[in-house]
Amino acid sequence: MLEKMPPTLRLDRTTTTPLDPRVAAAMRPWLDAEASIPAAPGARGRAAREALDSARASVAGLLGARAEEILFTSSATESNNLALKGIASATSRPGRILAAATEHISILHPLRTLERQGHRVILLPVDTQGRLDAEALHRELAAGALLVSVAHASGEIGTVQDLPLLVRLAREAGVPFHCDATLGLGSLAFPAPPEGPDLVSLTAHLLGGPPGAAALRVAPGLRLRPIVEGGLQEGGLRAGTEATALLVGWGVAADIARNEAAAGVPAARAAALACRRRLEEVLPDARLTGAAEHRLPGHVSLCVRGVEAEATLQGLEEEGIEAASGSACTTEAGKPSHVLLAIGVDPVEARGALTFAFGPDHTPADSRRAAESLARVVQRLRSLSPFA
Ligand code: PLP
Repeated sequence: MLEKMPPTLRLDRTTTTPLDPRVAAAMRPWLDAEASIPAAPGARGRAAREALDSARASVAGLLGARAEEILFTSSATESNNLALKGIASATSRPGRILAAATEHISILHPLRTLERQGHRVILLPVDTQGRLDAEALHRELAAGALLVSVAHASGEIGTVQDLPLLVRLAREAGVPFHCDATLGLGSLAFPAPPEGPDLVSLTAHLLGGPPGAAALRVAPGLRLRPIVEGGLQEGGLRAGTEATALLVGWGVAADIARNEAAAGVPAARAAALACRRRLEEVLPDARLTGAAEHRLPGHVSLCVRGVEAEATLQGLEEEGIEAASGSACTTEAGKPSHVLLAIGVDPVEARGALTFAFGPDHTPADSRRAAESLARVVQRLRSLSPFA
């Protein structure tokens, strides 16, 4: 049993978000002995099928897509794998695949696999703010490609890409566009079909929903090969019994994100701004990373020289603050983050990377507390370091 944790300031929302109580309430009946699965005969099966249909319509609504374009998966990681491998294996010959150098490892690792299978992967450069070089994309598209894959926003540096422009370039070249939209859905403007990306990965647990429920939107007419075979679920593109409870929760989380997320943006932005201002006063040598303007609301990312992110996170936790290091889940052990290297941060400074993700429920006082705690922790760590 998970013990009740003392009240903390949870600023790790690019890692996961707290489960919305309305989502938990909607899921509960589907965890009962009375509930069954969509493939079951009779009334119980029918109820599960209807619940799934309703969840699918809600997730589609978040993207402005049609319900039949939504495939349920277990994670954005799975959605990303299905998008890349599904498109690549549906073609008769190996081809070129274009992606931003700053993509999440759930994009980069499948791309490595595809490279071993004979496809050619081209990682496109970004500028010092992490925005994709649209001219480089345009140039590479001219040589033809099977697919372009660019995430909407980076959890490590908060930068948001100019999606309408990038999708337009790909469309003009006749190349399908995949977007890992794991972060920022609901709170950032997202281009809906037909202008939007052809393939979109999204996940419930970053939108107040449960871990284990996610989706891939696939535009009509796009041919994909399944990774998981052996059943007719999800139109045969993702076999396996559906997790009804999680998907019901996913539908409710999608509705909440669609109806409420945008309203929380000004407060989240104000909290992040207050944090950045206080950091300038109490930790002036910290280097803020990512885009100044085009960024996730509430997101603060920085590198602190002379301290290791892991030690800083531990120190912050002792102060009652849960933050994240972009590099924790995205890089291989001991290596600096590829995202930070791509924007020109030096490998030593990259070791002290940290993110705070504020939500609409955080106040400027929370922001000041986070900045001041960080300054205290850094000062303590530096005082212990023989290199300081
Ligand atoms: N893509 C991005 C940009 C992410 O930030 C994450 C996780 O934080 C993922 C993919 C993986 O999502 P999931 O945990 O649903 O597999």
